Amino acid sequence: MIYIFLGVPGAGKGTIASKLVNEKNFKHISTGDVFRENIRNKTKIGLEVEKLIAEGNLVPDELTNKIATQKILEFNNNDKLILDGYPRTIDQAKYLDKFLSDNQSFISGVIYMDADQDVVIKRISSRFLSENGTTHNSLIEKIIEEKGKFYLSDGTKLSRRADDEPINVKQRFVEYVNKTSPLLKYYEEKGIVSKVDSNKDIDTIFNSIVDSIESFN
Ligand code: ADP
Repeated sequence: MIYIFLGVPGAGKGTIASKLVNEKNFKHISTGDVFRENIRNKTKIGLEVEKLIAEGNLVPDELTNKIATQKILEFNNNDKLILDGYPRTIDQAKYLDKFLSDNQSFISGVIYMDADQDVVIKRISSRFLSENGTTHNSLIEKIIEEKGKFYLSDGTKLSRRADDEPINVKQRFVEYVNKTSPLLKYYEEKGIVSKVDSNKDIDTIFNSIVDSIESFN
């Protein structure tokens, strides 16, 4: 089963996906996480995409399609697999449709996480990343600032994502509006979208999404 999470940066796609992995036995692919891991490990792909991502631009479709579909092949058709951040363009969506039908699979449903701009900007500006790539947010957990550096209570070092700086966030929204938002209509025309109000707290959003997923089955 494949579920797509669609929504503006900061809508909570990664947060809810991780909760579904931990509590409901879902699997999760985040193309953003895959790219960041490549950047941390300074791979060829990482070096290629680092600047694009930092400045809030999308990675070209060809590379993204390759990375995402390679990952999808690591899972079974019976897994409850969440695609978070893929597809992000109409061309990616069409590529994914063809890839899935070639592999006797299909999209079970699309969750559109609808959130207001002021809410997501607040979330993004309180977001931090640990060295192993986990996301933390000072809106929901204690983050300590010491001499301009940030830590969790247990001493874990945190940093800010370069693409979470305000000027780069602005560019991510531009990319979202121009290239990703048309996906909503694309999937609505297929009749597979469930909309969730993502301005709410994590537990409320989580419960709504669990209900939506059940309604797809
Ligand atoms: P967010 O949802 O908060 O914007 P992600 O972690 O999902 O962040 O993605 C971070 C960045 O990785 C994106 O801004 C983009 O540069 C790149 N990226 C992730 N997924 C894709 C994709 N499907 N197509 C192109 N670029 C992508």
